[in-house]
Amino acid sequence: MNVDLHCHSTASDGTLSPTALARRAAAGGVTHWALTDHDVLAGLVEARAAALACGITFVAGVEVSVTWRGQTIHIVGLGIEPGNPVLVAGVAATRGSRQARAARMAERLDALGMPGSLAGALAQVDDPDLVSRTHFARYLVAQGHARVMGEVFDRWLGDGKPAYVAQEWADLDDAVAWIRAAGGAAVIAHPGRYRLSHGAMDALIMQFREAGGVGIEVVTGSHSIDEYATYAALARQHHLLASRGSDFHSPEESRIDLGALPPLPPGVVPIWSVLAGCH
Ligand code: AMP
Ligand code: MN
Ligand code: MN
Ligand code: MN
Repeated sequence: MNVDLHCHSTASDGTLSPTALARRAAAGGVTHWALTDHDVLAGLVEARAAALACGITFVAGVEVSVTWRGQTIHIVGLGIEPGNPVLVAGVAATRGSRQARAARMAERLDALGMPGSLAGALAQVDDPDLVSRTHFARYLVAQGHARVMGEVFDRWLGDGKPAYVAQEWADLDDAVAWIRAAGGAAVIAHPGRYRLSHGAMDALIMQFREAGGVGIEVVTGSHSIDEYATYAALARQHHLLASRGSDFHSPEESRIDLGALPPLPPGVVPIWSVLAGCH
């Protein structure tokens, strides 16, 4: 089995269509694949059909943006029913504030001498409610303001940087409830990326479990090799199921390709043990 349960299509901030992603996953040896676009379910129908055509098992997913104690946390939902009205309404409300935030980020970038970014970012999305920092970063790289997207985040768009605009995303308990309402398993995405003390991470996990969350990403494109062990231990300690996902966004931008990550470390229970069709 080669399980990859986290990636993005053109439905959110990836550059490949759901069909192109399914083909790339299959070509990369992935046997069980989830599409997890940010705050949107629009790519899942196409993804499921493409996965079927490629002969790989599909898991419908989503990555919900959450604000917890003032910080952005991402919660992945796996094995969801894409048409579930509670989840559909929840993610629609979550992405509803993106346009206003984008306008504020563009004003700041303008003041920093980088004009045109709102139009440049919006030109990349079908649904303006899905405009993200990724689209701004792509535009700024295309305009020659930075060499790579990481540089854009380091200089202007990363948390606390001059053009960063904080956003109140979904409530943690709500996000987990929406995923559960849709029959899915909720997973804390890339925990190594958050700036949380040990105590705060424990508190996050306690609240997440209380809400009905069941999993945590252990092997992700965002983690170092050391962090695989760190978060495997945390998963064991808190009896969370372990997930694996590349968080692939684009062939040009992503360091880790679909299916290319190492396997889960021994001693953890894989999240796919509870996902239909995956065990
Ligand atoms: P947003 O949801 O608009 O706040 O944008 C967050 C997205 O920005 C994430 O989903 C990533 O795809 C992207 N991102 C965050 N940090 C970086 C980084 N350092 N380099 C490249 N992309 C990043
Ligand atoms: Mn993204
Ligand atoms: Mn994320
Ligand atoms: Mn992601």
